[in-house]
Amino acid sequence: MHLQIPENAREIIHTLQAAGHQAYVVGGCVRDALLGREAADWDITTSALPRQVKALFPRTLDTGLRHGTVTVMLDREGFEVTTYRVDGEYEDGRHPKEVRFTPSLTEDLRRRDFTINAMAYNHKDGLVDVFGGQEDLKNGVIRCVGNARERFSEDALRILRAVRFSAQLGFQIEEETRKAMEELAGNLKRISAERIQTELVKLLVSPHPETLRTAYETGITAVVLPELDACMEMPQQNPYHCYSVGEHTLVALTKIRADKVLRLAILLHDMGKPPTHTRDEKGVDHFYGHGLEGEKLAAQILRRLKFDNETIRQVRRLVLYHDDRHKDPTARWVRRAIYRIGPDLFPAYLEVRRADILAQNPIYWEKSLKNLECVETLYQQILAEENCISRKDLAVSGRDLIEAGIEPGKQVGVILEKLLELVIDHPEYNEKEYLLKQIKRV
Ligand code: ATP
Ligand code: MG
Repeated sequence: MHLQIPENAREIIHTLQAAGHQAYVVGGCVRDALLGREAADWDITTSALPRQVKALFPRTLDTGLRHGTVTVMLDREGFEVTTYRVDGEYEDGRHPKEVRFTPSLTEDLRRRDFTINAMAYNHKDGLVDVFGGQEDLKNGVIRCVGNARERFSEDALRILRAVRFSAQLGFQIEEETRKAMEELAGNLKRISAERIQTELVKLLVSPHPETLRTAYETGITAVVLPELDACMEMPQQNPYHCYSVGEHTLVALTKIRADKVLRLAILLHDMGKPPTHTRDEKGVDHFYGHGLEGEKLAAQILRRLKFDNETIRQVRRLVLYHDDRHKDPTARWVRRAIYRIGPDLFPAYLEVRRADILAQNPIYWEKSLKNLECVETLYQQILAEENCISRKDLAVSGRDLIEAGIEPGKQVGVILEKLLELVIDHPEYNEKEYLLKQIKRV
């Protein structure tokens, strides 16, 4: 067994070995190398203690000394080098209260979550696979190292990680592991939002985002995203739809590019449906105002999961406008839509709409896609003609208004906005002289 390891990782291992220590690449990178995937980062595990690691390399960072991790810098690239350790008792399903260093590689591998993540490798000893990771990789199985119940009780985040790896790799979750997930999913409530966010995003941008269904079935979303459960349990008796709200969402996730904002927007786009649901006398379901309600929920959910403000801003907007359409779109309608939705997010809005359509009843695809393509064509024309759709393209500036006698202050912004709206409806009016004459009228 020979694996390709980057030059710098090899050099670090070699340096540690030359000083009499053991060292291996370990975990995710070994798994990915065996699968022929590109590894995100190359982690190294060693028998050397942190201070011994620090003494051997000129440039190191104390990344997590308490947990035995030192980052070794080589050619500006950082490698996490972690001392073999056994995780002490887990206080509250959150953090190991203490870690204990150990001279045994097997002990270090035993503390890891899944068999496929518990292999180590170096050129001298080849692959170290004590828990059958290679076999599980071959069969496409996610299985806990040792007793699944114990492993999930130690750290409940692993329950969500199992779904994440299943989604990334297209693997099945082994039965005992899955049973333990169902039993212990409730413990996820003690896990920090930041850790959940990381795993949720990896799941969403994976090749199989629809694996989120497993998170629903095992009771994970009931704890971390109960709004999804409401969608899964919300049927849609409506000719446009052939799925429940939740199933529609899962299908739509597979129809959009693997981008964080786009996948989050699709995940949340119809969350406003359960709270706005009504059924008319003919038995048809309606969800009036679900975009607006969805925007509120999206903001709440993303804040709860501690997403950054920029991500929240973009996703909210896309949720709010995801259903914004016109049965006969004109260039003027599209210019107004660009203005409303924002020039920066308009291409994303188009992608969201396409995915949304492709997850609806196929008998409407042709008509809906034609409508969308009409919007796309008009959008391209507007870009090509460099029509003014934001203040920066307006032929007058705030300074021009002040020079024309407008009091500096709020009024300047109000007038600029009115002029912009005028120009959006009539691109040919975007001339300084003309606009200055309009000041009084707008
Ligand atoms: P990625 O490709 O997303 O980085 P990864 O497998 O490298 O995936 P990391 O979160 O970077 O995942 O963790 C690196 C390794 O550390 C894992 O492969 C696993 O061996 C171990 N590990 C990480 N988190 C846990 C955990 N919560 N419980 C047990 N072992 C863990
Ligand atoms: Mg990693």
